[in-house]
Amino acid sequence: MVVKGRWQVVPEKRQLPISMNRRIIVAGGGISGLAAAYRLTELSRERNLEMEILLLEASHRLGGNIATERVGEFLVEAGPDSFITEKPWALRLCERLGLTSRLISTSTTNQNIYVVHEGSLRLLPEGFFLLAPTRLWPFIQTPLFSWKGKLRIACELFLPRGSIDGDESLASFVRRRFGSEVLERVAQPLIGGIYAADPEQLSLSATMPRFLEMERTRRSVIWAMWSEQRQRSGKQRAGSGARWSLFVTLAGGMQELVDSISARLPTGNVHLGTEITGLNWDSGKKIWTATTSGNERFNADGVILALPAYNAAQILSALDPQVAQELGAIPYSSAGTVSLAYRLGDLPRGINGFGFVVPAAESRSIIACTFSSIKYAGRAPAGHLLLRAFVGGAMQPQLLKQDDYTMENGVRRELADLLAIKAEPLFCRIHRHTGSMPQYHVGHRERIERIETHLAKLPALALAGNAYHGVGIADCIHSGEEAAERMLQQLKIRTV
Ligand SMILES: Cc1cc2nc3c(=O)[nH]c(=O)nc-3n(C[C@H](O)[C@H](O)[C@H](O)COP(=O)(O)OP(=O)(O)OC[C@H]3O[C@@H](n4cnc5c(N)ncnc54)[C@H](O)[C@@H]3O)c2cc1C
Repeated sequence: MVVKGRWQVVPEKRQLPISMNRRIIVAGGGISGLAAAYRLTELSRERNLEMEILLLEASHRLGGNIATERVGEFLVEAGPDSFITEKPWALRLCERLGLTSRLISTSTTNQNIYVVHEGSLRLLPEGFFLLAPTRLWPFIQTPLFSWKGKLRIACELFLPRGSIDGDESLASFVRRRFGSEVLERVAQPLIGGIYAADPEQLSLSATMPRFLEMERTRRSVIWAMWSEQRQRSGKQRAGSGARWSLFVTLAGGMQELVDSISARLPTGNVHLGTEITGLNWDSGKKIWTATTSGNERFNADGVILALPAYNAAQILSALDPQVAQELGAIPYSSAGTVSLAYRLGDLPRGINGFGFVVPAAESRSIIACTFSSIKYAGRAPAGHLLLRAFVGGAMQPQLLKQDDYTMENGVRRELADLLAIKAEPLFCRIHRHTGSMPQYHVGHRERIERIETHLAKLPALALAGNAYHGVGIADCIHSGEEAAERMLQQLKIRTV
């Protein structure tokens, strides 16, 4: 054996000129970093590349926001409980990982979603998709909107296109096209809930570009959604219906995805408890050096930063203050999940549906509640129920500062009021996700464009994560995989 190349000991017969033996650092072991590291591993194997991949994670576990906890026979999700199948990247990754048989769709019965209105749960009318109705009769019948509100929604069919130049807030768009009842009673809790955000600030083009496109191309959003709906029903009738529901999860919880990826990463190349604090580029030697809080140094040819934007900003502050300033300006909100388990017999009335959302106008201490064990099989043993409430977000950040006791009691008071649950839970698990949800405020896309244009000037440095082109698991996987592919293109790594 001889020490050859810059990074590792290679067998004599595989001695390589210095430039062939490459190392790529992936910083951050959330799903974005894991997807990046796994894609690099796959490509390295497929193309037989001489390359080392190092995954550096600050905490002592992988997964970032994703974590699944088993409590007896209950399966509690600390963070995300599912991913969308309309965007292909998460589903494809599961297929490549051999996890297809582990995927589970949402329950086919009890699919109701409720909205809290004037203190009680009202059914979200069937076919009401985020901000517009796609079915007439349930919309006419619903007590969720006043007659005046319904008339205003129906007017959308005849409204001209908007004339707003540049980005617009989601709230402005919904108010302009559908009126304030839809905004306050449905769009704010449903869409604001996805982003743990205030729709008055959310950028329409960065979060729901589809609706903007519908207005541009079809003028009426309702009309465009009706046509899409008809096409979908046509396909279903023709027998080409989707195999999976809109959201799916894994039988063992979302952690299964994390574990499956980490089991396939090269052994010894994942460093936990390794927080990167700085990054330096030596343009002469063409080497990146990452320094850690433990005063370690890791050299590499390329770096993928799959971190929250504020962490990436800190790391890049000395190297590129302008990019660091832009990254640091992306705001974040925090959210907590409070999971509560009950015996079915403890519930005074039957609970059906996937859960409910709570408009800010209702002034309650939860923003939503998922009926976890009804939505997905295998979340609670027979005869039991698992509920999960969400607390905090951009509109109620003070609630996340409560201690566990106060938070649990606040949630239980809401459940007693809304679902008449007075029994003691079998257990309660609280998980806090501080600074976890990037806020795509108006102007977000332009900011990301500026960041990416600027970063393109630095060699072999890529960003991945939920701060840029989508917050969902599928988007994060896409961002990690794209960063990996771009990195290999830039480095032009040779085959062994
Ligand atoms: C409560 C909640 C529920 C959600 N529900 C869903 C859902 O059902 N479906 C869905 O699609 N999405 C959901 N999301 C969104 C989704 O979970 C996140 O957007 C996604 O997990 C983010 O992944 P990430 O890898 O980009 O970031 P993170 O998960 O934040 O991972 C970043 C990692 O970087 C590490 N790190 C930070 N700084 C450093 C450093 N200096 N050096 C080294 N490592 C560092 C962190 O420790 C962390 O592990 C939810 C989010 C939350 C908070």
